[in-house]
Amino acid sequence: MAQATKDYYETLGISKNALHDEIKKAFRKLARKYHPDLNPGDKTAEQKFKEINEAYSVLGDEKKRIEYDRFGKTPFGEGAWYEGGRPDFREGFQFGGFGDVFSDIFGAGRGFENIPRRGADMLMGIELTLEEAFSGVTRPITLTRDIPCRTCNGSGAESFQTCERCKGSGKIQMSRGFFRMAQTCSACDGSGRKVTRTCKSCGGRGITRQGETLNAKIPAGVAAGSIVKLRGMGGAGEAGGPPGDLRIEVTVKPHPLFKREDDDLYLDIPITFGEAALGAKIEVPTIDGKAVMTIPTGTQGGQKFKLSGKGFPSPRTGARGNQYVIAKIVVPKDITGRAKDAIKEIESLYKENPRKKLVENR
Ligand SMILES: [Zn+2]
Ligand SMILES: [Zn+2]
Repeated sequence: MAQATKDYYETLGISKNALHDEIKKAFRKLARKYHPDLNPGDKTAEQKFKEINEAYSVLGDEKKRIEYDRFGKTPFGEGAWYEGGRPDFREGFQFGGFGDVFSDIFGAGRGFENIPRRGADMLMGIELTLEEAFSGVTRPITLTRDIPCRTCNGSGAESFQTCERCKGSGKIQMSRGFFRMAQTCSACDGSGRKVTRTCKSCGGRGITRQGETLNAKIPAGVAAGSIVKLRGMGGAGEAGGPPGDLRIEVTVKPHPLFKREDDDLYLDIPITFGEAALGAKIEVPTIDGKAVMTIPTGTQGGQKFKLSGKGFPSPRTGARGNQYVIAKIVVPKDITGRAKDAIKEIESLYKENPRKKLVENR
């Protein structure tokens, strides 16, 4: 079995069980320390910088790391990236690996024109009824978005040949002062390949636009104005970058009965003078059915009653808010004959003067 010439874990000063983030962190720290710009003329730093790049090109790539751990080498060759190899963005390349690490160190874009770019975020609106907001809903939504071209798998080409200038690596070794570094091959823009025939379906962009119907799942209890994020449902990324997100802004139609405040619902309930005076058991609508509640004797107009747990579910905890029922005493407008006499009789039996306080305070 072939032996690795170097221990990459040792080079980066990490354990064999290090997580991807730890590897990245260790690399970042060392790369900053030994970067030639910070150590002008220091041959040892230059050598060290090369070594840590080589180690990271393998350990920072999940696939290469597995090969390295198993066989002590990588099928891509040691230092594949640094020597000019190009990570295969379409097969397991982890976004947030080389791209952001190197944009930190070298400055964004410098020599990395071909880094994967995340697709565009998209925003659209959806209008729900209060009942739909309460129970959550799966709604088919139609949108037009960028997707990788199916004909060419996003490559933009129908056929390729290996780039002759960089021999397929996508990189050309350049001297920057004393320090040699890999630059993107200008003949192939870093792809390592020359397109011999452009994809007709997408005209070479690798992206097509397509109308699609997606099922948007809106969670129960969603509030008006909130944004539901569908990860990866936005526009396709470029150069194998991840797709953007689809954000759905929720609006809720006004309800003829209920008003919502946070997770509580408010309902005006009309009651008669008799029900208010004598008390009653009445049926009240709730967002998910009916409830029976007792109006106590002597209920006043505007009095508020609580139906516990009959409000909206909290999108965070699922615990339901309350429904508040506000009594509205309805006075008959058209009173004649016996009814008139009866009311007059009730009035004469009143012991209380409702305006007593007003009179006393004048
Ligand atoms: Zn295409
Ligand atoms: Zn090339």
